[in-house]
Amino acid sequence: MPRRPLVAANWKMNGLKASTGELEKIIAGAENLADVELMVCPPATLLASFAAAARGSRVAIGGQDCHAQASGAYTGDISAEMLKDAGATAVIVGHSERRRYHGETDAAVREKALAARRAGLVAIVCIGETHAERDGGRTREIVRTQLDGSLPDGAADFVVAYEPVWAIGSGVTPTPDDVADIHGFIRDRLTARYGEAGRGARILYGGSVNAANAKRLLTIENVDGALVGGASLKADEFLAIAGAYGARWSAISLS
Ligand code: PEP
Repeated sequence: MPRRPLVAANWKMNGLKASTGELEKIIAGAENLADVELMVCPPATLLASFAAAARGSRVAIGGQDCHAQASGAYTGDISAEMLKDAGATAVIVGHSERRRYHGETDAAVREKALAARRAGLVAIVCIGETHAERDGGRTREIVRTQLDGSLPDGAADFVVAYEPVWAIGSGVTPTPDDVADIHGFIRDRLTARYGEAGRGARILYGGSVNAANAKRLLTIENVDGALVGGASLKADEFLAIAGAYGARWSAISLS
């Protein structure tokens, strides 16, 4: 089953109105990248203006988190419906920084993924083991537990992002063999649970992807794109990463 690659930018808590120029460059560059879907997930303050700027372009806009409820007395939180209303088409849920700094459990992540579905957003569900878990030989066990607990039942209408916590922002990445192994394992879990539909769900790799390693990491079987943090803040580098999927971007080089 062919899966169209998705390369998504997670801007985290970065970006001011002045960053709109980077989005505009991504929108322009996306015209040369017919073989890949591009998404930018800015901070919530920029969501509506980015969605307006990206309307009609090849760049989708996503949120970085949502609350499980549609509305209510949850000061500071944002619902999936609000993200949708602001122009988002997807939302990241269960990022390791949310799990770590906000104590989000697999069950909470699953509720958020269900909220995304309710609102008509694609949930990008993040999973991944810590350094200690990896060293303890527990990678598969952790990934299996997180998949089982974080993904909603029913349709395989989500995207999975495998992001080893130790690779995020560290400049260190797993070997291509390790990526192939764990993505194959995730695919097997998805097909066991969702049947044929599990073959259609995209599995992104995330963790220190940059222009130099993108081709090596993103052209592995069952790697259907990337979730990119730090390297996504500069349009040129983000576009070069997406260029790992070919298209006509190779004509444009990083300066
Ligand atoms: C992330 O936090 O989702 C991520 C992949 O970060 P980085 O690319 O900076 O490692």
